[in-house]
Amino acid sequence: MTLKVTIVGVGLIGGSFSLALQAVGADIEFTGCGRNEDSLLRAVDLGIVTRYSTSVTEAVAGSDLVFLATPVGAMEAVLAEVAQVASPETIITDAGSCKQSIIGAARRQLSHMENFVAGHPIAGTEHSGVEAGFATLYRDRRVILTPQSDTSAQAIETVRQLWIQTGAQVEEMSAERHDKVFAATSHLPHLLAFSLVETLYRMEQREELLRYAAGGFSDFTRIASSDPVMWRDVCLHNSEAVLESMANLREGMDALVDAINAGDGKRIEGLFKIAKDTRDTRILAKPQQTNPQQNEVSEGGPEPEPSPEKPQ
Ligand code: NAP
Repeated sequence: MTLKVTIVGVGLIGGSFSLALQAVGADIEFTGCGRNEDSLLRAVDLGIVTRYSTSVTEAVAGSDLVFLATPVGAMEAVLAEVAQVASPETIITDAGSCKQSIIGAARRQLSHMENFVAGHPIAGTEHSGVEAGFATLYRDRRVILTPQSDTSAQAIETVRQLWIQTGAQVEEMSAERHDKVFAATSHLPHLLAFSLVETLYRMEQREELLRYAAGGFSDFTRIASSDPVMWRDVCLHNSEAVLESMANLREGMDALVDAINAGDGKRIEGLFKIAKDTRDTRILAKPQQTNPQQNEVSEGGPEPEPSPEKPQ
């Protein structure tokens, strides 16, 4: 029987979910939902969804599964509307980058929490919007599910199987651990990239600096082209773990400042050597670097690589 899936937020993540499942011939009918009708019409043109509505309740009514892929800050309001029309059997899942906050919102809004399966694909690019999706985004990438003790095993299995069909490998972890791990490995590098570019912009000689900010600077800061709204929401909804990671970064920067101030070349070299060895042996050596279109470490990821091709 054809599965009816509604994607709320037909952008990079939501669009790629549909394209990936369609690419393997999954028997699914996709409905799109968002605020902007032009984007939804484009989603129909691109074959991402067959029908759409700008009303969450209208789009979700009659769905077997709802996939939430809006920015994290929009999720609670969307969940409140989903709750009005979802049946007790409707499975609701999400792709948001912060898990504890979204699970809290789901608990406040949903009357059938057992069918809510929180998830986060560790895949992405710095592009966003309906045009950004592509069918291979999730191939060989991880998807983290953070089910709760009251989540139904059947709902988890349904969501797991869908992700597996996209080519992803599914893992489970607690929402708390998820938020700490991705604050350090994904959220921190994005904030660093945004902050680095903004720092250059603030400097008096910015015109000259920006003229020379190609090459390494451009590579390193690629992910500062990511969507400001999405990353604002990540900061606000995973603030504790993000702030903890930023404090660790500050400690590292202070150690470097002290070593440079002291003219302590041995210490500077020691810090750099730890970083190089760790990256060469523990990060680059990971087996998952098989998809040349994108990166290992999450949303946009800190590793500079070519942008993905857009769908034809
Ligand atoms: P995106 O490309 O900007 O897509 C988000 C979509 O949500 C847009 O198409 C937008 O369409 C819709 N939207 C925004 N606010 C809305 C609202 N209030 N109600 C309904 N729809 C709304 O963003 P994305 O990169 O796909 O990210 C989506 C989610 O996935 C976020 O929660 C993010 O944390 C998570 N995530 C992102 C990445 C990544 O690398 N980008 C990776 C993993 C997880 P309209 O403008 O038409 O409303």
